[in-house]
Amino acid sequence: MHDPEEIIIYCPYCGEALDVLVDTSAGEQKYYEDCAVCCSPILFVLSEDDAGEMVIDVKRDDE
Ligand SMILES: [Zn+2]
Repeated sequence: MHDPEEIIIYCPYCGEALDVLVDTSAGEQKYYEDCAVCCSPILFVLSEDDAGEMVIDVKRDDE
């Protein structure tokens, strides 16, 4: 069991750098988290790459 990882993402709406906690032990998932700066709903997409590493994508809701 891993602890949630703290990563930096850039808000796809306002471009601000945000510290977020991501639970990479839960496997592939999608969820929304509001940007702490502009309050827009950021879509987080967690997926596994070929090497089995978790990759985190952030997208706008309307993409
Ligand atoms: Zn934002």
